[in-house]
Amino acid sequence: MSKRLEGKVIVITGAAMGLGQATAMEAAKEGAKLALVDLKEDALEQAKQELKAKYPDAEVLTVTADVSDEGAVKKYVDETVKAYGRIDGFYNNAGIEGKQALIPDYDVDMFKKVIDINLLGVYYGLRYVIPVMQKHNYGRIVNTASVGGIRGVINQVPYVASKHAVSGMTKNAALEFARSGIVTNAIAPGAILTPMVAGSFKQVNPEDPQKAEAEFAQGNPTKRLGKPEEVARVVVFLLSEDCSYVNGQTIAIDGGQSNTY
Ligand code: NAD
Repeated sequence: MSKRLEGKVIVITGAAMGLGQATAMEAAKEGAKLALVDLKEDALEQAKQELKAKYPDAEVLTVTADVSDEGAVKKYVDETVKAYGRIDGFYNNAGIEGKQALIPDYDVDMFKKVIDINLLGVYYGLRYVIPVMQKHNYGRIVNTASVGGIRGVINQVPYVASKHAVSGMTKNAALEFARSGIVTNAIAPGAILTPMVAGSFKQVNPEDPQKAEAEFAQGNPTKRLGKPEEVARVVVFLLSEDCSYVNGQTIAIDGGQSNTY
């Protein structure tokens, strides 16, 4: 069977760990040429080494960048084009949860930081990647929203606001650029066991985060959390040529939990 991303140039933000790293691994398995972007230089280098250990033939460019800095976003796009000449797929994924608090108590600086990274970071990515894709009339974009992009999550007001915005921007990009061969979708993961979610359970129950995790899993129809690879496999489909007529959707990857009430 041919590889689903053979020769495709794929940019992944937030690639040093969690969902971004798992998707980089899955994309390398499927033959992609990768540009991996992250704020954390050391962790990014470590992720590259882990990837090369498993897929020695994979082409991997790393760029350290803060996605909330427009100039840094332009730079990672420019460096990718310089290295590979084009961009076929974009996993616009970097994001943070922020501190948990009710609306009146939410720290305004933290609110702005979450918006800067989760909303503007995704917007800047679209702003600079789409014109590159338009040049060759082909593109697959996957933005990372969240179940917090389709419903509320107590104590996480800027996160929920930013992820609803990601879902909204996804719909707009889908409408504006399908005529250029660019298909845009978002994913809405539920609780997937990554460093971010481990940190979230620490916020919920600092004394016993594993208890918080077990309680959360009980609310899921599958009675477990998701694994990063389970998200990565969906993202790789959305980044592939097989995804040609799904456009503007926000796809829940949550074991069905968002269907409960
Ligand atoms: P993570 O914290 O495990 O990994 C996120 C990566 O993004 C890290 O490597 C981090 O250094 C990088 N990053 C953070 N801020 C950045 C910035 N300003 N510029 C560049 N890189 C930056 O998180 P994760 O769980 O893998 O989450 C990835 C995405 O998925 C986020 O957008 C998150 O909101 C979303 N998400 C995750 C879950 C989940 O259950 N894990 C659920 C829903 C949505």
